[in-house]
Amino acid sequence: MDNCIFCKIANGEIPSNKVYEDEKVLAFRDIKPVAPVHILVVPKKHYASIMDIAGEEMDITAHVSTVIQRIAKEEGIAADGFRVVINCGKNGGQEVDHLHYHILAGRNLTWPPG
Ligand code: AMP
Repeated sequence: MDNCIFCKIANGEIPSNKVYEDEKVLAFRDIKPVAPVHILVVPKKHYASIMDIAGEEMDITAHVSTVIQRIAKEEGIAADGFRVVINCGKNGGQEVDHLHYHILAGRNLTWPPG
């Protein structure tokens, strides 16, 4: 989608610190990390948010879960644990309107979030 920063990162127009890539998703390190490990997993297809995935395309969510498992093993964060966050909309604190999953790890994350 025009003027979408994560579409531009996904198609290579804007560089990123890449962690994983396949034909459907790109994972890269967040530019402003809020934890020692902060990785974004982004479907290459533009979905404005989790609310924008049509029922027949929902297999992307399973694929992202598989990618998250793989990254957790490769980053060495599976044993100590981590958090996966999808911010959605205004109250969810979503700033980039292209669906992305935050993987946060490397410190004890508090609950509830702010
Ligand atoms: P959200 O508030 O859930 O929409 O999160 C957007 C995230 O994207 C924030 O954590 C930003 O730091 C991150 N971000 C924005 N631009 C970039 C970029 N060019 N490269 C990596 N991360 C980015």
